Amino acid sequence: MNRTPMVAGNWKMNMTVADARHLVSEMVPGLQSKAGVDKVLCPPFTALLAVSSLLEGSDIRLGAQDMYWENSGAYTGEISPNMVAEFCEYVILGHSERRAYFGETDKDVNRKIQAAFTHGLSPIMCVGESLEEYESDRTYDVIFRQVKMGLEGIEFEGGDGTNLIIAYEPIWCIGTGRAATPEDANQVIADVVRPALEELFGKDMAQKIRVLYGGSVNGENAKEFFLQPEIDGALVGGASLKIADYIQITLAAIN
Ligand code: PEP
Repeated sequence: MNRTPMVAGNWKMNMTVADARHLVSEMVPGLQSKAGVDKVLCPPFTALLAVSSLLEGSDIRLGAQDMYWENSGAYTGEISPNMVAEFCEYVILGHSERRAYFGETDKDVNRKIQAAFTHGLSPIMCVGESLEEYESDRTYDVIFRQVKMGLEGIEFEGGDGTNLIIAYEPIWCIGTGRAATPEDANQVIADVVRPALEELFGKDMAQKIRVLYGGSVNGENAKEFFLQPEIDGALVGGASLKIADYIQITLAAIN
């Protein structure tokens, strides 16, 4: 199956507008016009405007790190899908930090995914097991539930599968410097993520949807992940703020 790889950088709660401008202007020359990989940067909300104007005319796309599902109203502190859609093509949803620190449930993630599609945004839906779940052999149950519930009731008719991206991110690997083995990550995707997608959308569509790996990916280890048949790129946290590392990761995704 020919899926175009994707590398997306999740800057998390880092970078003022000035920092973001500096980072992007240094990074863009090394990233842009590199064919064979879809490139997405996900700065914090406050830097979206600045980064979007710096990316104008390039083939690097912009994503947000979250959003609420309602369009407008009395939801102090929230950002709506149509606000995100003013700047972005992509939105990260269901990141484990949102689930752990902000109490986001599978149902919330599902509402956000629905809203993303309604507004023409491509969601990057994160799933992943905790260390405790991993150690007690519950990885498969957790990932299956998160994929099924996050995408329940999503209508995919007419879509070609490229506008939904799943990021498999074992929580015990995020920001810890401890990455899953490429073989293990590949196995989880093959045994659980794709079968869950198949139950939801059928075999053909399940083969078209890209599944990224996330968790302590860096310039050194990226290629080994990308050589796995089920891993279609990476969602990168810490290393997405390091210019040379991030460019190396992105180039490693090109077949
Ligand atoms: C992430 O936050 O999605 C992530 C994968 O972080 P890191 O690369 O720092 O582990």
